[in-house]
Amino acid sequence: MDPTYSDEAEAYREKIQAFLAEHLPADWSGIGGLDREGVERFSDEWRHTLAANRLLAPSWPAEYGGGGLTPLEQVILAEEFYKAGVPTGGANDAFSISMVGNTILLWGTEGQKRHFLPRIISGDDVWCQGYSEPNAGSDLGNLGCRAERDGDEWVINGQKIWTSAGHLANWIFVLARTDADVVKHKGISFLLVPMEQPGVEVRGIKMITGESEFNEVFLTDVRTPVENVVGEVNGGWAVAMTLLGFERGETAASFPIMFRKEVDRLFDLAREQGVADDPQIRQGLAACYSKVEIMRFLGMRTVTDWLAGGHPGPEASMFKLFWSEYHKQVTELSVDILGAAAMAPSGRWPTNAFYCDDVGAPNDSASWVGTFMLARAGTIYAGTSQVQRNILGEMVLGLPKEPAGPKGTWRELQKQA
Ligand SMILES: Cc1cc2nc3c(=O)[nH]c(=O)nc-3n(C[C@H](O)[C@H](O)[C@H](O)COP(=O)(O)OP(=O)(O)OC[C@H]3O[C@@H](n4cnc5c(N)ncnc54)[C@H](O)[C@@H]3O)c2cc1C
Repeated sequence: MDPTYSDEAEAYREKIQAFLAEHLPADWSGIGGLDREGVERFSDEWRHTLAANRLLAPSWPAEYGGGGLTPLEQVILAEEFYKAGVPTGGANDAFSISMVGNTILLWGTEGQKRHFLPRIISGDDVWCQGYSEPNAGSDLGNLGCRAERDGDEWVINGQKIWTSAGHLANWIFVLARTDADVVKHKGISFLLVPMEQPGVEVRGIKMITGESEFNEVFLTDVRTPVENVVGEVNGGWAVAMTLLGFERGETAASFPIMFRKEVDRLFDLAREQGVADDPQIRQGLAACYSKVEIMRFLGMRTVTDWLAGGHPGPEASMFKLFWSEYHKQVTELSVDILGAAAMAPSGRWPTNAFYCDDVGAPNDSASWVGTFMLARAGTIYAGTSQVQRNILGEMVLGLPKEPAGPKGTWRELQKQA
């Protein structure tokens, strides 16, 4: 692990700080300082600014509209953006850029790269993730959404669920079963599917916060050209796992900064609520502070490995498990600090459905209660805590594998179920 940066890296940091100073208002305190409409307006404008300056997909090669930054420059960029409290992209860019874009870069044909990547940058194509189904979440390999070939097209039938920001997307990457007569992981393909066509129905799911951030997506005789398969037909499992690596691993540099800002805010809340001298609250705050420091060191280790050319492997599960369980703990503490005020939250609710409330958000009870509710989802999406523990046990610690389920092709197993 190397926690220091070279002079060259620090020079790049100054460049990014100058970029931020040039493009943000003088009184900027983070996107949390804006109201809901202000957040939406700023996010759209900021995405344009990032795209125009090639900072939206900083790791992609310039020929596809990316920034061509080195891994170290990407780390510094993420650090400075999180410190300044500005988004690194738009609402769906976690799916469009970090997930499907990066996956197309690794697995896609040259034609797919040239077609899809610039359209992601321009915002013409906005993506969502069609993995989970009512009977396939942790056991993703059990998925039953089917794709059959009809001439030059795939015809897709099935249902996806928990599709985050699916109502904002016009493309969905779908894991579909293209061969039912092989073992379950072998008959899956990774398809790129346009959503603006008959047969695609997106139904919002109401969350505990009252928002409808995720959806059910029903696909009935939905079509996509045969060339919109990424990787081999029936070889989609390997592609799908690459994408999950991006989903779980890219947070090591930025999350410790984000969680540190959040715990600092919680210290302020304890003072404001007059409980900073309460021994139990103090103990809780010290525990959370210590965990954020541990997260910082874990993050440095992952980043150091990444800078040396490594890819996020199973150890990324350690980071995911750590931050998501921590986030439940710290937000439970926030509700304890608020006491009765948490029963009738008031003020500004969080404007994003993932992770912490925005940098600069007022220390309102609604901000903390909303984040407390959303934090529970963090131990479910991108693989549950139990699944992360299984991965760590089997692939990092070398413990015996879980007992294998019944054997057979996917079709045979469906008959037994
Ligand atoms: C906020 C949010 C956003 C999401 N966004 C998306 C999205 O955009 N696209 C998408 O495709 N999916 C999305 N998901 C779905 C998410 O990936 C799944 O919810 C997750 O993989 C768990 O699957 P499941 O809900 O079917 O639960 P299940 O897999 O049915 O699990 C139920 C319980 O059993 C436990 N369990 C299951 N298997 C094992 C095992 N082998 N060992 C020990 N315990 C086990 C689980 O840990 C869990 O506690 C999202 C989920 C949430 C909460």
